[in-house]
Formats: sequence, structure tokens, C-alpha cells
Amino acid sequence: MNLNTKKIFQKAENGRYAIPQLNVSSADQMKAVVKAAEKLRSPIMFGTSEGESGFLGMEQAVVLANFYEKKTGLPVILNADHTKSLEKVKQYLDAGYNSIHFDGSLLPYEENLELTKKAVKMCREVSEDISVEGELGQIGGTGSSKVFEEKIEIKDEYLTDPKQALEFVETTGVDRLGVSIGNMHGISKVAMPKLDMQRLSELQETLKGKCVLVLHGASGIPDEDVKKSVELGIRKINVNTELRVVFSSAIKEKLEEGEITPYKFIAPAQEKMQKVVEEKMLICGSNGKA
Ligand SMILES: [Zn+2]
Repeated sequence: MNLNTKKIFQKAENGRYAIPQLNVSSADQMKAVVKAAEKLRSPIMFGTSEGESGFLGMEQAVVLANFYEKKTGLPVILNADHTKSLEKVKQYLDAGYNSIHFDGSLLPYEENLELTKKAVKMCREVSEDISVEGELGQIGGTGSSKVFEEKIEIKDEYLTDPKQALEFVETTGVDRLGVSIGNMHGISKVAMPKLDMQRLSELQETLKGKCVLVLHGASGIPDEDVKKSVELGIRKINVNTELRVVFSSAIKEKLEEGEITPYKFIAPAQEKMQKVVEEKMLICGSNGKA
């Protein structure tokens, strides 16, 4: 991937749309994302968590991302989602990822600041073109992209403070910031939290031109709210749980019918996942922007 990922987000900022980060754990899922992007001419952004990249293989993910970039002619971003240590940042950079998300949001503020600053420096040493994301404020849920039976409480103190965010962005030099505005990882069957649009407006006002705002945990948030958040300045939307749900339920259905041929039980799951990815691209407005 010979991409300047910072420029891709600059383009999104100028065009006032967002790029959906689609999390994947397998080559099958990457293919589903690519098909959607090809159909809609959207930039591609894969996300892999530490667990997902551990299973898929960092180097394999890079090879596949490069392959799809060449094959489709679309810009491809491969983002290391929620990287928790500098050792892992190094591994991702060595493997060839062109986008890094360092997540120190659960650490004390000063520690998050220090480590994120170091992560940014490590990325810059490899290339100035790599877009780096930091995270400030606590996103609701346990951190797992799963379906919860209970309601997830989001305390006021979890939410990102605009003033602190400005200091964080200026000190660390991050290109993107994952913010907590009432969003959660995963989907709650009982009630999804409401996004604090007022806070988002304040964050956008404070950080305009300094970094790109990112919404984690977009699964389960009503389309209208996601659209509104894009209008208010969100330029990257992270989607994982919804893809997991649709992919695994389609496989389960086929297995229950007695299907044993992998390409016969995986293909319908890819098709269903592709549909969800297309919906997300349309909501973000990234269609036609490749
Ligand atoms: Zn996240």
C-alpha cells in the first residue's frame, strides 16, 4: 500500500464524508468488504483488532490488502485497531500496516499522553504518510465487539472533554482521535445509548483542522444518528459487531441445514456481510469517493 493515509482523511474532511472502518478476522471477510467497495467505488478501510490480526496474521493481512489495492485500483487502508502496547505498534509497522490506532484510553491520562506520543513518533519514523489515531475518554462496554443482554451504563466521566482533547492532540500529534460521546463497543439488546451531539459539536469546534474525529462502536446506532454525527464532523466510523452478527448467523443457518462444504456455507455469509458494508458506506457517504 503506497498510500498517504493522512491525505485520504484530508479528502474526507474537505468532502464532509466519513470512511467506514470494517473489522475483519479472515480473508473471507476481507473479500466481502472489497466487493462492496468495488460496487460503490468507496475507499477501503480494513480494521483488525489485536485478536483479529493475531488470527489472520499481520503479514497476511498486509499481503491481502496490497493485493486488493492492486486488483481494484481503490485506495486501501489497513488499520491496527485498539493497539494497546508499543511492542505491538512496532510489529504492525514492521508488517506494513499503513494506519495505527493506539489505545491508551483506559490508562491514567498522563500515561495515555506519554505512550500515544511515543506511538506517533514510531509511526513518523517509518513514514510521514501513516495516519495515527489516539483515543481519549472511555468508550462504553467491556471493549468486546459482541451482543450484550444488558443495558450498558455510560457515565459522564467517561465522555471526552474538549479542552483535554485539545491538549492531548497538540501534545501527541495524532492525526485522528477516537472520542467518547455516549458510544459503546458492541450492541445492547436492551437499549442503545444516545449520542451526545452537543459534545460532538464542541469537540469539532475545538479540534477543527487539528485532527480527524472517529466514532467507535457504530454498530447498533440508528442510521440517522450516524449520519448526523458525520454532518457534525465524524470522518471515520468503526463497525465490527454488526458484521460479526450477520456473518456468523448466516453460517449458523447453513450449518444447521447440514451444509458441510466451506465455500457453500461461507459464500452466503459473505453476501450478507457485503450488504451491511454497502449500507455503512452509503450512510458514511464514502460511495463514489475512491
Ligand atoms: Zn473501537
